Amino acid sequence: MSSPDTLRIPTELLPRDGRFGSGPSKIRDAQIAALVADAPTYLGTSHRQATVRNKVGEVRDGLRALFGLPDGYEVLLGNGGATCFWDAATFHLIERKSQHLTFGEFSAKFASAAKDAPHLEDPEVISADAGSHPYALAHEDIDLYALTHNETSTGVMMPIERPAGASGLVAVDATSAAGGLMVDPTQFDVYYFAPQKSFASDGGLWLAVCSPAAVERIESLAASSRWTPAFFDLKVALDNSRLNQTYNTPGLATIHLLASQIAWMNDNGGLAFSAGRSTRSAEILYAWAEASEFATPFVTNPAHRSHVVGTIDFAEGVDASVIAKVLRANGVVDTDPYRKLGRNQLRIAMFPSVDSEDVAALCASINWIVGNL
Ligand SMILES: *Cc1c(COP(=O)(O)O)cnc(C)c1O
Repeated sequence: MSSPDTLRIPTELLPRDGRFGSGPSKIRDAQIAALVADAPTYLGTSHRQATVRNKVGEVRDGLRALFGLPDGYEVLLGNGGATCFWDAATFHLIERKSQHLTFGEFSAKFASAAKDAPHLEDPEVISADAGSHPYALAHEDIDLYALTHNETSTGVMMPIERPAGASGLVAVDATSAAGGLMVDPTQFDVYYFAPQKSFASDGGLWLAVCSPAAVERIESLAASSRWTPAFFDLKVALDNSRLNQTYNTPGLATIHLLASQIAWMNDNGGLAFSAGRSTRSAEILYAWAEASEFATPFVTNPAHRSHVVGTIDFAEGVDASVIAKVLRANGVVDTDPYRKLGRNQLRIAMFPSVDSEDVAALCASINWIVGNL
């Protein structure tokens, strides 16, 4: 028996890049090199001038191409990350009552933001146990359906489809899904995310792809008597975004890294390319776990198993937290499960930047650790 602190995984087994975190996530070396090359004329310059505004324009046009947006769809952005966007949505996207599909930490947070907003009716919440996902049900009194493309806390993905017969807006939290999972833009009105996951940048920004119906909703609520703090005012964000700006100062490095990642996706074949990389990694991870004597995919329905964030349970007697600790001591980081799920589990991000060979190497490294503990 060896102590976890001294176990050295053979170098030839180790992934070449040890970053498997679900956000912040791996940033490719080429993105950093591009930022360094542009730094003297880009970093430390005004976000109201052409250099930075053109970069924001690249992000907006790049997302338009990546998602194949129909005419009239617009890309909005602002500061504060996806969590901030939930609060903004309670002011300028939900008219009276929303329906939320909750199946983990993130989806539940938006539901509670809507419940706490004094100017809204209590939302309808449809829940499913961790490890599965619920289904939306169209109701006449619902003006916004809140879906989550990928529940990052549990590793469950769900297909994005308008609920049959629904007249309300469909707003999708795509924070960990966007860029790593396929999506049809005609099936949503708002597809929002932050860039520290599949888009391999830093946090603190939100982006929202909005359909014409969503833009109309923003404009009508902004013109209504509802009081809204300027920071959560989506009309302010819309007006600034149209000028390739944000309401207040954004992180310039974040925008640059994001623009590089979107260009990399588009230059290599678009969403089919980037989602394809995640799909290949997921095939490797789940096939390994299914064949393993001590590991099993946490999500029982194979169709619900996320291609971007994999959750793997470990058998009694194999302590996942010790495995994560040994991995970390060997430079393979952030494989710990979502803290509140409280399972004997590892959570492994397989965003497009992660090389599938590194996922295979991670599986081999885990086998080695279990064999040598
Ligand atoms: C990470 C994540 C969030 C939170 O993003 P922040 O930018 O930290 O606010 C929200 N929803 C999902 C699905 C996430 O994965």
